[in-house]
Amino acid sequence: MTQQRLTVLGSTGSIGQSTLDVVARHPERYEIFALTASTQVDKMLAQCAAFKPRHVVMVSEAHGRALAEQIRAHQWPIEVHTGAAALEWVAAHPEVDSVMAAIVGAAGLAACLAAARSGKRLMLANKEALVVGGEVFLQAVREGGAVLLPIDSEHSAIFQSLPEDPSSWERRVRKIILTASGGPFRTRDPDTLRDVTPEQACAHPNWVMGRKISVDSATMMNKALEVIEARYLFGLPPSRIEVVIHPQSIVHSMVQYHDTAVVAQLGVPDMRAPIAYGLAWPERIDSGAEHLDFTALPAMTFSKPDARLFPGLQLAWDALNGPSGTAAVLNAANEIAVDAFLNRRIRFDQIHHTNVATMAAVLPESPTTLADLLALDERARRSALEFVQRIQA
Ligand code: NAD
Ligand code: MG
Repeated sequence: MTQQRLTVLGSTGSIGQSTLDVVARHPERYEIFALTASTQVDKMLAQCAAFKPRHVVMVSEAHGRALAEQIRAHQWPIEVHTGAAALEWVAAHPEVDSVMAAIVGAAGLAACLAAARSGKRLMLANKEALVVGGEVFLQAVREGGAVLLPIDSEHSAIFQSLPEDPSSWERRVRKIILTASGGPFRTRDPDTLRDVTPEQACAHPNWVMGRKISVDSATMMNKALEVIEARYLFGLPPSRIEVVIHPQSIVHSMVQYHDTAVVAQLGVPDMRAPIAYGLAWPERIDSGAEHLDFTALPAMTFSKPDARLFPGLQLAWDALNGPSGTAAVLNAANEIAVDAFLNRRIRFDQIHHTNVATMAAVLPESPTTLADLLALDERARRSALEFVQRIQA
């Protein structure tokens, strides 16, 4: 077995830390080439002590200087880089075999494309990068000869439930069914959503995650992004992707075939399981997650999402059926809106208003390059920010 040399983008986040937890269980299989973070110096220093990467990227220059000082004091042979361009460098470096993309938001797009173009095994948790990148992202994967593996638990489940030969998917599969927990407000009266606080929105019943994805789970914009992600990963038309609410988060998603058979993937809700699958595919390794005990399971239930509680879900199909680039506009609006909500500048229900208004205001012009995508992302962010400023006044 040859050792995989790994870059973990966003190593200090929830997915990044879970990735390092799995990696630490298999020192003979994985070696860390690079770790990256935005600003968390203390966490990064602890990861440096444990994993001795050759390179570290801190996007923030000031935090990078602080980290470099501590690394020098320890006399560790670790190079510290700063600035966003260094993310692309550690993602595309010829000595790297695999890249875990665990940055949050469109900020991870350029590094994902760099890894894709350099033919890496690209493990994608950073769903926003694929939502924004769309066909441009897929083309980079094809041209670079990269292997794109989903880490999002639903997409990992679907990938595990599909036949091995991707060219048969379109022909054999009737529908992809994504499960959604429904988040913390599944049973809430829709008329009271305007009173939701950031603390309530971030308290997810089944998963502990970063703040952005926690808010997205509460609005179900996370599922909307996942519908778009599924469309690009698996190539089925949007009309053949469905969402059902399954509050127990045991069935991670399913594939329904033309003969009526349904193949699903089950497990305890622990992101280390899909991470281990991505790291080892097609092998299976210990993930550290608990095995499922069927005799101890709660009753599993499934229901239709309530459009009054989760109006944002429909935006996935609106974006996919709109002109190319519309999903990038939706994503940018949502990133601005979630940030404004977390900073108490807009109400919870106004996240959706911001997304709808921005999709109506910004018409994309078929992006075909990274530069086009970044310009479109920027234009949509400005428009969303203007809307936020108008409604908060
Ligand atoms: P998080 O907020 O916990 O971590 C984000 C990481 O990205 C951190 O290391 C941070 O330093 C880095 N980062 C933040 N902004 C950056 C920027 N502008 N440039 C470079 N680096 C930056 O987020 P998370 O919950 O780990 O989620 C990461 C990604 O994985 C998201 O796209 C999320 O949707 C996806 N995901 C997360 C989970 C989960 O359980 N947490 C599950 C499925 C998918
Ligand atoms: Mg998910």
